[in-house]
Amino acid sequence: MFLGPRMMNPQYMLLRLGGFHFGTYANVGLALAPESDRQHREFLIRPFSLVFTAISKSKTNPRQVGIPIAKRPVAVLKTDIQEMQTDDLGCPGTCDSPADCRGAAQCSLAKIGNRKPEIGNIQSLLTSAATDDDEEPQSKNFTSTRNACKLCTPLGACLAFRGVEGCIPFLHGSQGCSTYIRRYLISHFREPIDIASSNFHEESAIFGGSKNFCQGALNITRQYQPQLIGTATTCLAETIGEDMGQLIHDLKEKHGENAAAPIVHVSTASYRGTHMDGFHSAVRELVEQLAVAGEKNKNVALFPGMASAADLRHLKEILTDFNLPLTLLPDYSDTMDGATWSEYEKLQSGGTPIAAIRALGSTQATIEFGRTLVETKTGGTVLQNKFAIPRQLLGLPMGIRESDAFFNALAEIAGVETPVKYQRERGRLVDSLIDGHKYAFEKRAIVFGEEDLVIGLTALLCEIGVTPVLCASGGRSKQLEKCLRAAVPDLPAETRVEEGFDFAEIAEAAPELKPDFLIGSSKGYSIARRLKLPLVRVGFPIHDRIGGQRVLHLGYRGAQELYDRIVNALLEVKQETSTVGYAYL
Ligand code: SF4
Repeated sequence: MFLGPRMMNPQYMLLRLGGFHFGTYANVGLALAPESDRQHREFLIRPFSLVFTAISKSKTNPRQVGIPIAKRPVAVLKTDIQEMQTDDLGCPGTCDSPADCRGAAQCSLAKIGNRKPEIGNIQSLLTSAATDDDEEPQSKNFTSTRNACKLCTPLGACLAFRGVEGCIPFLHGSQGCSTYIRRYLISHFREPIDIASSNFHEESAIFGGSKNFCQGALNITRQYQPQLIGTATTCLAETIGEDMGQLIHDLKEKHGENAAAPIVHVSTASYRGTHMDGFHSAVRELVEQLAVAGEKNKNVALFPGMASAADLRHLKEILTDFNLPLTLLPDYSDTMDGATWSEYEKLQSGGTPIAAIRALGSTQATIEFGRTLVETKTGGTVLQNKFAIPRQLLGLPMGIRESDAFFNALAEIAGVETPVKYQRERGRLVDSLIDGHKYAFEKRAIVFGEEDLVIGLTALLCEIGVTPVLCASGGRSKQLEKCLRAAVPDLPAETRVEEGFDFAEIAEAAPELKPDFLIGSSKGYSIARRLKLPLVRVGFPIHDRIGGQRVLHLGYRGAQELYDRIVNALLEVKQETSTVGYAYL
């Protein structure tokens, strides 16, 4: 066993030689996913506040439903200070109080992320852990990612699984991964989410986690009675080469075919992708492992990508108005943004019915959002290749042109014109662009986030007269610039388009680009604060405002909402910085 393929794996050897404790999620996470170091640091010290969201969701006394009540540990207070400090570029966040902070320029530990590993072997091992096999080797000047502009891959998979009715996400790997992901999702959606974990220990990391996986699947089935278990692998399970197909086979052989709920599994190594990759991979595996052939019907399959809960509701409304039966996969508009409960629900109701996923082989057409997915195997390509279902790959319908393409596609499938309701929404949007043109015209913006969101936002900004000066993403699809320029032909040639960018690089580039505002997730707040510029919060995550799940981005209505927010942010700056204090703008 010791001489198996695991021992040949350089990342595994690094962990062994480095003497890390496998059961400690911090060591595992930091060693394998250096780009996620800040996210882990945040998570490490603030794990316990999660339970309060779950409690507040239920009107029932939490003690009556057996929810453990944890007191917020003292360490949390320290975290708040550290989080403030880590907002500074390269700050390691190790001071005990703000009074101790001497600022990044004076601090001997600042820009620690800039330091290159001192031992060449370790550098090359970490580099190979953080890059694809087919990527070019990093140069000697390689600097590891500092404050990544992307999130953990299983996080995307967990969200996708929560968009399936009765499905519980089950992470095969370290327990800390599931708590970190829960914290991120809860802080954005303000909803409880249970994510199970097979809870690796030293023994499972060395000899494999088969025992933990079997026990976990049986426990989940007994405690939650789910319709489906969505299993995703964490960095550690991926690194030691866990064969999930074999584990599921062993589980059935040992305990019987129906001992555990049906399982869909997806491989999600975070050092090889982003949360978007995890999301799309989970959707693909749901289709691949569940959909079956059947007689063709009028149903349309729509794979929207990682849209907000409000976006998902809006898409369902649009398809209903076109009179098209729809399978939206995933659909977490209720599970992650539901109403109050009279009783605590272990698995929130809502989501795409499993029967509807099984019936996807009968649909008449597929629409998939995500221009950068052009060379990726997705849920749409599975339906195309297995069941000959035509697939339309569109950009996220953000702004007028991209929304037009979506509505035209629906009109063609349904054989009807776009309903008057949406024609009027488009008309109002165009009218408002004229009204606000003098405020938005020639303003400069930095756009950041996942790649397809960046494309959609850039399309909208160019339509309203704003010049995007930097379009940055932590993703590495190698498609961003090509797809962006195809979607937005009038994007200025001098606009910087950057893949694999992190927040430290955005912060370094920003002053010279002289932006008027930033647009992206709340993770850009520290840069906006330093530059004293407005941040228009969109996408995921939005941790410092309420209502992130209700931000509407898609369709004419979504463009209208974003446009109003952008122009109002600019007007607010104008008003606040005016010596006169105009009340009439
Ligand atoms: S799976 Fe996510 S949380 Fe776990 S070690 Fe990897 S990056 Fe960190």
